[in-house]
Amino acid sequence: MKSPPPSNIETPAVAPATPLILAVDVTGAPRGWITWQDAVASKASGRVERELGDFHFTFYGGHSRLTGERSSISVSSILALRGRNPRGWEPLAPALTNALLFQRDRHLCCYCGSQKRPDLLTRDHIIPVSRGGADSWKNVVTACKPCNQRKGAKSPERAGMMMLYVPYTPSIYEAMILRNRKILADQMDFLASLLPADSRLIL
Ligand SMILES: [Zn+2]
Repeated sequence: MKSPPPSNIETPAVAPATPLILAVDVTGAPRGWITWQDAVASKASGRVERELGDFHFTFYGGHSRLTGERSSISVSSILALRGRNPRGWEPLAPALTNALLFQRDRHLCCYCGSQKRPDLLTRDHIIPVSRGGADSWKNVVTACKPCNQRKGAKSPERAGMMMLYVPYTPSIYEAMILRNRKILADQMDFLASLLPADSRLIL
């Protein structure tokens, strides 16, 4: 559920183009993406401790009855927020979803190397679940439908299929980069500096 902006802030015409704001905690650890509405609400309620971004977005509100001046509030592309569990905070480990799995593996089938659209890909359990394999990041790879069918309920060795890459658990920061398609340069730099060396993202 999205929270409405403070009542004295109008929805600006630029809203659809406003990118997501990267929220970090007071230690500087990235914690999630928040909408500009939440960013403005955080700023208005005094929860922004520091502004760390290179980009600034200004939102205009109504005119003050006292001074006649138009109210405005600006937020930067990266905000350090005080307090626990602001809206949009990420869990500490990224949840296993097909969308994120396919992105981790660059939409490449682990067995034949072909690159396909998401609807032509499947989540393959290296050790099949029916043989005790876990439904977890290190036991799953992206496979095209024909390869998944060929492998069936066998391990790659038993199916005589070679794996072209090794699965890994994406870091939460990697998951955050993958989730935001309109990431800004400063936000990317901030998150990229925290990625593990084995990340498969091209930066
Ligand atoms: Zn394949």
